[in-house]
Amino acid sequence: MPKRQVDMLLKNASQLLTFSEQLHPEKSIISDGAIAVDHGRIVDIGKTGELESRFESDETLDVTGKIVTPGLIDCHTHLIFAGSREQELDMRLSGMSYMDILRSGGGILKTMYATREASKEKLVEEGKKVLDSMMLNGTTTVEAKSGYGLTVEHETKMLLAAKDLSKQHPLDIVPTFLGAHAFPPEYKDAPDEYVRVVATQMIPQIAREGLAEFCDVFCDKGAFSVEQARNILVAGIEQGLRPKIHVDEFANIGGAKLAIELQAVSAEHLLHSSSDDLTQLSRAGVIPVFLPAASLTLMEDRFADAVTLLKNGLPFALASDFNPSCPTKSLQFVLALSCYCMKTPIIEALRALTLTAAKALRKSHDVGSLEPGKKADLVIFDVADYRFLLQHLGVNLVSKVVKRGVVVAEEGRATRAKSAD
Ligand SMILES: [Zn+2]
Repeated sequence: MPKRQVDMLLKNASQLLTFSEQLHPEKSIISDGAIAVDHGRIVDIGKTGELESRFESDETLDVTGKIVTPGLIDCHTHLIFAGSREQELDMRLSGMSYMDILRSGGGILKTMYATREASKEKLVEEGKKVLDSMMLNGTTTVEAKSGYGLTVEHETKMLLAAKDLSKQHPLDIVPTFLGAHAFPPEYKDAPDEYVRVVATQMIPQIAREGLAEFCDVFCDKGAFSVEQARNILVAGIEQGLRPKIHVDEFANIGGAKLAIELQAVSAEHLLHSSSDDLTQLSRAGVIPVFLPAASLTLMEDRFADAVTLLKNGLPFALASDFNPSCPTKSLQFVLALSCYCMKTPIIEALRALTLTAAKALRKSHDVGSLEPGKKADLVIFDVADYRFLLQHLGVNLVSKVVKRGVVVAEEGRATRAKSAD
């Protein structure tokens, strides 16, 4: 039988971590694995010998001695912003809390002023640098929240910057509207009026222009109340924006229950959630998203309780929470924090950064596992066994990144940008 010609044949992987939906992640590992890729999608996956007997390609990727995982998915980031907040590390070291810094005009509000002043082009330029760095560290899909404009004009500008980036950059960007990130100074004394502006002015405009897939709210003590969050998220649902929600980062004010009530796609942070809240969320189909780098950089001394979910066989996702005060662009770093600080096995943390992260963005039909029909988004790591991913702590172990069947990063350098196509 003649062999089928495909665009790329990856072969000789010491392990393919497929995270195939039906199998336990350990059981879904294929040794001496190969992947046939055509038109940017995975056509077949199996042992190298089997695939070589059925496929041929002008482009073969011999990955002897290396492992392959699905492209990592960063399902919670504040990708777009201007300015920086490097002085806040010293403030935190001197004992100031996140809320102290916010009240003194720092934090989100400082970034808001810089972002309002920046042009859309400047935001795109800054965002591109971040995306490049994320890509070199193995990320292939990135969620990007607005939330540093806090006016119709500037929230729209942020989401337009995300849209431009998704056209120019190889990575996929999933936009989320987060107008309810903080109360802007103009509405300091009229918070409910700001909630009304978000619900009746920002959301309709953003939905009309198709600028976001999700609507998110920072529901917490010192931020938006459960009632305010409900008003905003319901307005989003009515306009076709699915709900996501930041909850229980600083205190448990009932945000997790709201996430269940509204059947949110995901609930994120969850540092102060009870084990009952967590299991109920996950059982209700709301993906819990844990952000251990946020705990670390806020010096919170507390990490989310992933172990309870694991004990009950329930899924959770992990993400970077990349933002000016949590500046990690590396999901390998998040993997390490998950294992060392949240006590999750490496394989579970990897599933949380791939398949379950895809579910937190409602993209698991397309990405998140190595299965025929899905996008050929792959990371080739320079280790022969996944358990060695944490035997080189703090080192970027990515050998190559493949996005939609094209090698986009190799040995620490971007190789092909979408804009150069
Ligand atoms: Zn966040």
